[in-house]
Amino acid sequence: SLIATDNRSIVVGLGITGLSCVRYLKSKGHQVVVVDSRENPPGIDACRYEFPDVHIECGAFNVELLASATQLIVSPGVSIAEPSIQEAKCRGVDVRGDVDIFRELVKAPIVAITGSNGKSTVTTLLAEMAKQAGINVAVGGNLGIPVLDLLDDSVELYVVELSSFQLETTQQLNALAATILNISEDHMDRYPNKLAYLQAKQKVFQGCRYVIVNEDDVLSEPLLAQGMEPVRFGVGKPDIRKFSTISEGDDCFICYGFESLINVNDVAIKGTHNISNALAALSLGHAAGIGMDAMLETLRHYTGLAHRCQWVRRIDGVDYINDSKGTNVGATVTAVESFGQTSAGKVVLIAGGEGKGADFSPLREVISAYGRVVILFGRDADKIKSDLADAAQVIRVNSLAEAVKEAQKIAQTGDTVLMSPACASFDMFRNFEARGDVFVNVVEQL
Ligand code: ADP
Repeated sequence: SLIATDNRSIVVGLGITGLSCVRYLKSKGHQVVVVDSRENPPGIDACRYEFPDVHIECGAFNVELLASATQLIVSPGVSIAEPSIQEAKCRGVDVRGDVDIFRELVKAPIVAITGSNGKSTVTTLLAEMAKQAGINVAVGGNLGIPVLDLLDDSVELYVVELSSFQLETTQQLNALAATILNISEDHMDRYPNKLAYLQAKQKVFQGCRYVIVNEDDVLSEPLLAQGMEPVRFGVGKPDIRKFSTISEGDDCFICYGFESLINVNDVAIKGTHNISNALAALSLGHAAGIGMDAMLETLRHYTGLAHRCQWVRRIDGVDYINDSKGTNVGATVTAVESFGQTSAGKVVLIAGGEGKGADFSPLREVISAYGRVVILFGRDADKIKSDLADAAQVIRVNSLAEAVKEAQKIAQTGDTVLMSPACASFDMFRNFEARGDVFVNVVEQL
């Protein structure tokens, strides 16, 4: 029958995370049902192939089915505010996420990274540092491999990126070290206000030993710090037992305490925001016992991930930058500022897409300071245009390819053409990677 009976787990939302949950639950002998509101959810073929006996129910959620479970394992893509999930919860069903199962099973220390921006950069940088130090590290979560697929008895350290959605369904993570890198508005289509978003992020600190606090963002502070050891980092504020930066003549160095460690020019990931990311990774790594030499060696060589302020090409003295992962306003503000400060000319910004209910007005200041023109495409182009008011000249186009061609016409020698959409990609692309690939392809053909 459709109604699950024993050890009744229902995985809500398929995709790679949902599939990892099915895999785990099946290995424990649970009876598993999968529900997904989409008619043809991603991962459905893989699930049918791997687990032919697992029932997959597509379409609108059936409250009676959900309420018949002992536990719902909700994927991060599904909101737990969904009425049928809330109804099941009211009727006594446990509502959890994959990270909640993971933290129960894990046998090695966890380092957890959340925040509005920089998560993937810090997560991968830290994992590289651990590898460099010879530690058997597993890396994943919101980025790459779902946490349940990482579990292995030989792993010595788990470095996990967690989204606010994953944290909402997680109790008592008990991380060795954890951080909220920064907070700026995001996902306002799924949270009633910024405080609710912040509260979800704060769950990363539950049961944590070392709380890594970004002094440059007061919202990264733990609201309940009992029993935790705060470790601070921040740009330009050196102090004992703290990673920071220090100026010596014309040079700037990353330092620990008052001791200079590495010239910022020798750090392979560029931009002020990446120095902040480097300080976060160093602080987390230090708390996790990773050796300093290995960490510094990694900073010299690790050049970062694609689609994050990634340099693509220079044509006629104009640099083309792919920041497709700039999916919220805060990320785009940072990117415009960073390239505005370093380029000889101005920034031609290409933005737009699915705006997730955001207010785009924080872009005004950096656009007036550094923008030559803003080229908008995608679903929320008009909303961005009105939020920008008269901060810059705005051009509205119908596709990303058209945006790039317009940008080439307008950009002057020394300018930077920056594709940092401040929006999700789902209105026109499969994901941010696909959007970045289109940009790179069009730029390569100019
Ligand atoms: P996330 O995983 O949180 O989305 P990424 O590391 O993938 O973050 O970076 C995405 C984009 O966010 C970058 O390309 C850049 O525009 C911006 N960004 C990165 N680090 C920071 C930071 N520390 N502060 C503000 N913006 C940042």
